[in-house]
Amino acid sequence: MQDRYFSFEFFPPKTAEGTEKLRNTRAQLAPLKPKYISVTFGAGGTTQQGTLDAVLEIQREGIEAAPHLSCVGSSRESIRAILQQYREGGIRHIVALRGDMPSGMGEIGEFRYANELVEFIRAETGDWFNIEVAAYPEYHPQAKSPRHDLDNFVRKVRAGADSAITQYFYNADAYFRFVDDVRALGVEVPIVPGIMPITNYSQLMRFSEMCGAEVPRWVAKRLESFGDDRESIRAFGLDVVTALCERLLAAGVPGLHFYTLNAAGATKAIWQRLKL
Ligand SMILES: Cc1cc2nc3c(=O)[nH]c(=O)nc-3n(C[C@H](O)[C@H](O)[C@H](O)COP(=O)(O)OP(=O)(O)OC[C@H]3O[C@@H](n4cnc5c(N)ncnc54)[C@H](O)[C@@H]3O)c2cc1C
Repeated sequence: MQDRYFSFEFFPPKTAEGTEKLRNTRAQLAPLKPKYISVTFGAGGTTQQGTLDAVLEIQREGIEAAPHLSCVGSSRESIRAILQQYREGGIRHIVALRGDMPSGMGEIGEFRYANELVEFIRAETGDWFNIEVAAYPEYHPQAKSPRHDLDNFVRKVRAGADSAITQYFYNADAYFRFVDDVRALGVEVPIVPGIMPITNYSQLMRFSEMCGAEVPRWVAKRLESFGDDRESIRAFGLDVVTALCERLLAAGVPGLHFYTLNAAGATKAIWQRLKL
């Protein structure tokens, strides 16, 4: 139990009110002593300053911060400049991603896939950064085949990643199988499950459709049946996600990474139920 680690993910707020709300969320989650807090990065650099500001503020509060960095639409020069800013800010942990180009926005840029970004970060900065990459137990929605996706994951790790965080999932068996398959290909890095608390039915279905995560039919049906009854959605969501976390922890996962969506309530409630 001791060496398991827990981390929280935020997105950079766009308004002064959002920044205040995030400070409040952090104040509530900091006592849970996360190993680190990560902050997402809008593909094409759309949140570059917001991500930087947020991670620097988190570091100043004494918590390790890990900015996400997505490379689609970027040049080597612009990524080099961002890495330099992080180094100057004392940031040593990064989540390296391809990202998805917002529709209608510019060119693909000089990086096509996350493995190229990982390779670039290592070539430019050696061992300065602890590099995380994304993993997809239910496979990436654009993957040509499960096998192709696994091979691409392995390529990304071999390019220099230290560990991985998964896309969220509600099918624990998909995660266990993914880890077994990756281990069979000789990759030993920790693969930390990404946990998405359930608080909003329509938002969850929309996100899941986009990112290729399956919401099991029985879960979707129950959530749908609650209609606008937010309390019942939250209570049922808490049961489902706590049971998932219990199963993962019992199986010896290296840690859990919570997608907080900048709110403390659901993550804290799961945490308390898990008696962490
Ligand atoms: C933990 C986590 C955090 C995230 N944070 C952010 C964020 O902050 N900002 C953001 O914009 N998005 C974020 N995303 C979403 C992510 O950017 C998208 O899922 C994106 O579509 C893929 O990114 P990736 O890094 O996994 O890509 P890749 O690993 O590059 O994979 C993308 C696709 O290309 C294929 N592929 C990979 N390498 C190759 C290759 N060399 N040749 C051929 N095919 C290849 C893969 O099979 C896959 O289908 C996050 C996702 C996760 C799981």
